[in-house]
Amino acid sequence: MSASPACKDHRGAVVETRPWRYGWTMRKPACACGHRYTTYEIPAENVQPQTDDEVDDDGQER
Ligand SMILES: [Zn+2]
Repeated sequence: MSASPACKDHRGAVVETRPWRYGWTMRKPACACGHRYTTYEIPAENVQPQTDDEVDDDGQER
């Protein structure tokens, strides 16, 4: 997941991590051969953009 898009053989060491919008986490790894790239870690609850249905959970008892 964190492999360099250029070399793909090894994982980069994260040199910068900062909170991003929507609760995401932005990470900037740099691999051993010097490539730098950006990855975003997205919380599972935010992967699906449509979550409006969860509002009605209290009324779902049958
Ligand atoms: Zn690399």
